[in-house]
Amino acid sequence: MPAQGGRWGRFLEQRARQLQRQVQAKEERIVELETENAVLHLRLAQYQGMTGKGDSTATRLCSQCRERDLPQRSTAPTTPQLHCQVQLCVLVQNLKQDMKALRASSLEVFRTCREHLQDGLSAAVEAVQRAQLCHEALLAWQSKAGHLERSLQEVSARYELEKQKRKMLHNCLVELKGNIRVHCRIRPLLPFDKEFDDPASQDSSVPAGVVHAVDDETVLVKCDRPAHPLINKTYNFERVYGPAESQQVVFGDVCPLLTSLLDGYNVCILAYGQTGCGKSYTMLGPRSKEAHVPPWGPHRDLGIMPRAARELFRLISENPSKSLKVDVSIVEVYNNDILDLLAKERRTAVSGPKRDARTSKAAKREVSPPTRQPVHSAEDFIALAAGSLPLRARLATQVHACSSRSHLIITATLTAASPCGSPADRQSPGPPLEGRPAWGRASPGSPGAQRPAEQVHAKLQLVDLAGSECVGVSGVTGSALRETLSINRSLAALADVLGALSERRGHVPYRNSQLTHFLQDVLGGDAKLLVILCVSPCQTHVAETLRCLGFGAQVRQVQRGQAGGGSAAPRKPRNQ
Ligand code: ADP
Ligand code: MG
Repeated sequence: MPAQGGRWGRFLEQRARQLQRQVQAKEERIVELETENAVLHLRLAQYQGMTGKGDSTATRLCSQCRERDLPQRSTAPTTPQLHCQVQLCVLVQNLKQDMKALRASSLEVFRTCREHLQDGLSAAVEAVQRAQLCHEALLAWQSKAGHLERSLQEVSARYELEKQKRKMLHNCLVELKGNIRVHCRIRPLLPFDKEFDDPASQDSSVPAGVVHAVDDETVLVKCDRPAHPLINKTYNFERVYGPAESQQVVFGDVCPLLTSLLDGYNVCILAYGQTGCGKSYTMLGPRSKEAHVPPWGPHRDLGIMPRAARELFRLISENPSKSLKVDVSIVEVYNNDILDLLAKERRTAVSGPKRDARTSKAAKREVSPPTRQPVHSAEDFIALAAGSLPLRARLATQVHACSSRSHLIITATLTAASPCGSPADRQSPGPPLEGRPAWGRASPGSPGAQRPAEQVHAKLQLVDLAGSECVGVSGVTGSALRETLSINRSLAALADVLGALSERRGHVPYRNSQLTHFLQDVLGGDAKLLVILCVSPCQTHVAETLRCLGFGAQVRQVQRGQAGGGSAAPRKPRNQ
């Protein structure tokens, strides 16, 4: 509004100057005309003088003529003197006519001048009146602008208050649902399942498989095999997805966690289960066989990662004032080593069984954080993951037959732009930290993998865990056995950590495995953890399914333990 007022003021000033110039021009013209008039007056006076003289001469001559006429009345006036007198009379007549014309034209000039002057004056008066009106309007606008500014300030303050309230309520809701939540997803029977060929499973009236979603929160495992004890067990989780439930439905329950992420809470989503039960499908989407299609298939089947990337950037675009930046790191935990899938050397030298471990038992005290790649859109994020995942698979195929022999961790770190300088576009890893993986502690308030002058807002970790099947079931030997043992150890360490948290033990054994160490920020505390148990419906896998559901039930203890400790009260995000 002040800008509009300034425009009005400038406009009025210009208009007044224009009118002043017009009035000045008119005044100059009047002076010119007055001078012209004075000259004309002078000439008029001269002519009048001359006419007067001419008149008196004419009178005198006429009287002389009359005197002369008396003695010689019959003779005609033919003398040169008389001729001259006649000419003089004509001259006088002409002069009189000129005078008349002159007077008329000067009167005309006067009238025109007066009209011009009057026009100028009325234009000036009009302009002044208009200026007054404009000034009044300007004042009215100014007061209106002031009023609007005040109400804007009030509304902004109220908006901030409501935003805080919303944040508190949202967190309260999330905490009521549980900071640690366990969902269970039963995948459909697929052509590669032995039971797929079973005619009973083809009959829609007979429920296929041995694992069933009784309702939204209950899963039933019912299996009656000859020479085996009857299994009839139910488990309750925060959410149970049946085989027909879509990726979109699963993401619908993940979505509120991204709001928490933007509110400054760390979030972790873990897919747990045996090989082939749908962990990668749930986290990423179905893998496409065609090279030109992203590895997680068509749009409607997108998994949590690409959907979360889109939602994250949508939420960021809704809050431009926060000016958050997103950096992505992608690592896999293989044989208790953390391998950086975005490291330059991994892109160029990825062949061979010798893997470039970021940590190892021998070099635990000299570690560097994984590469953090800035991403500016969901497409960047997805393309980065799409580019690095084949690396994982290729490496894996060279080492072992099964592709999910490592835990995949995709981390999105949200940082607030610092007033004293923005972080470099590409990370130059900072100095190594002693005794722990630096990136594992990049939480608000801790130095971790933070770059100088940046403030970590929150972290999102998406984890596609390796298959949880035990050695006996997988029947592997050699290096594959070592991998399986390593996976089992890390998953046991994960269960131990969650157990310690549920029992509120003073010591939580995060350091027992690289996996738990890496996830330390998002296990416990006020971070939001969602474990998605992926289970196969097949009878063949019933033992693994029961182990998986048992793990989920144990994790749920954490939630109960926390709720019992009164953690449902809304807590403030750490960096607020
Ligand atoms: P995991 O990662 O647990 O080893 P995958 O995610 O690779 O298992 O799934 C194994 C196969 O099952 C894949 O071909 C995948 O497309 C398919 N699959 C898993 N879950 C579903 C589902 N809910 N709907 C359809 N196909 C699924
Ligand atoms: Mg997998």
